[in-house]
Amino acid sequence: MRLLNLFRSKEAPDYIVCPTCGRRAERHDIVANNYICTFCGHYYRVRTNNRIKMVADAGSFTPWFKDLAAVNPLDFPGYDDKLAATREKTGLDEGVTVGECRIGGERAVIGVCDSRFLMGSMGHVYGEKITLAVEKATELGLPVIMFTCSGGARMQEGIISLMQMEKTSAAFKRHSDAGLLYIPVLTDPTTGGVTASFAMLGDIILAEPGALVGFAGPRVIEQTIGQKLPDGFQRSEFILEHGFCDAIVERKDLKDTLTRILKITNGTLPANLKPRYEKNGEKKDIVPLSAWDKVKAVRSIKRPSALAYINTVFDDFIEFHGDRYFADDKCVVGGIATLNGKSVTVIGIEKGQDMAECKRRNFGMPSPEGYRKALRLMKQAEKFNRPVITFVNTPGAFPGMEAEENGQGEAIARNLYEMSALKVPVLALMIGEGGSGGALGLAVGNEVWMMENATYSVLSPEGFASILWKDGKRAAEAAGVMCITAEDLKRLGIIERIIPEYGEASEETIAEIADYLKDNIQEFIKKYEVMSGDALAEQRYQRFRKY
Ligand SMILES: [Zn+2]
Repeated sequence: MRLLNLFRSKEAPDYIVCPTCGRRAERHDIVANNYICTFCGHYYRVRTNNRIKMVADAGSFTPWFKDLAAVNPLDFPGYDDKLAATREKTGLDEGVTVGECRIGGERAVIGVCDSRFLMGSMGHVYGEKITLAVEKATELGLPVIMFTCSGGARMQEGIISLMQMEKTSAAFKRHSDAGLLYIPVLTDPTTGGVTASFAMLGDIILAEPGALVGFAGPRVIEQTIGQKLPDGFQRSEFILEHGFCDAIVERKDLKDTLTRILKITNGTLPANLKPRYEKNGEKKDIVPLSAWDKVKAVRSIKRPSALAYINTVFDDFIEFHGDRYFADDKCVVGGIATLNGKSVTVIGIEKGQDMAECKRRNFGMPSPEGYRKALRLMKQAEKFNRPVITFVNTPGAFPGMEAEENGQGEAIARNLYEMSALKVPVLALMIGEGGSGGALGLAVGNEVWMMENATYSVLSPEGFASILWKDGKRAAEAAGVMCITAEDLKRLGIIERIIPEYGEASEETIAEIADYLKDNIQEFIKKYEVMSGDALAEQRYQRFRKY
């Protein structure tokens, strides 16, 4: 068992020995460093009061339900004494503290679990305090932030402890159905019944670096399978990789991240007054590209991809990860952001702009988990009434074995099905390659706009030539007859608007393109946000019904 609480070494009371690197540091240095080892970055567990100080605005915390009577439902021998001794030692009434506070000025209900109290195990009072706090938050219309930490169920309370899992989950379901935001912050360790209930039910799940997060504890797994677990198994980074948390946030950034998420959700960020791009007067003669030239242009590694636009057009972008089922697809990026103070959800297919990045992003070919992440973020947008803006740039969905095993077809189909009925405005921007069903899986918009040189087609010109003419070399000729350019698609009524590239999309022209997008996306939002959710879904239905 790792020693994680702050403890004093016997010979030097003002020093702390790090359980990870074994080095001694002065206590006040560790405290000043947010309870993180100044040598190796080891995260110490944080006591309740210190955690509240770390995230709540000074003096803003009011505790709720402090004096719930302790229970011993099974009359478990010695349990009353153990509870009394733990209270005495920790100064806590239970393993969780709940109450209201302000974070960056925004009102929130917070809950803080403390591992010093019987390993943060969940018994009746622990579950009851959380449930009461969530019910009160629902009544008051407030978001909830839970700092989770638990060894699991409280053994001395047996089956009553187990019931807390369902009770807390049900309270969070009602809170969510009321359209309210819930953010669990997973801290070390979050295991057992807490992981299998309220810790995993957030709209946005954050985690501290290196925290142990899992259902079965590592020792139980090792005993069961008779093998040692690899390093890093069940740690936050593993959880992120497997799609179960949105982001790992360092302590120094925790309050700021929570503040930004609360403000974007509440729509209270001020409009940004970033200076607009100044055109440099010179007018270049722009020669229009042929269809085949466009195919080559959009495949260029230098062409800006989704993140370049997201970071230039929007402010305050916070990226969220994971499909909550299996993995985090690095080629689908998404999260929340603002556009001149207006909150939006943005999602894009990112190709990368250098070889290493392209490999990491799988060359812009999404896997099922990418489509599922996108859908999860779109459903989140719907809950919080945010318009969805997608940036599509893909040669197609990834044709791989694993992708098929995990249901590539199902994942794309599910997006078409669910996107058709989303009750918020959806704008799809085709910014490069629009490769078939893999592109359509993010392009079911109330409007679809396409960049001047972008392409959008049922398959690649090479594939088309090889199927139709049994000659893949006639791709250039195929490109000319397939109707894949923005002009063709505008004429066919597949898209509403052509986005100018001021020559060709590149590092040099992206600021000018972004200015165009900023203005026009704001107009799009103004036009559609006045419509009801049902009217938006109906407009989208009819848009695709006509083909
Ligand atoms: Zn250390």
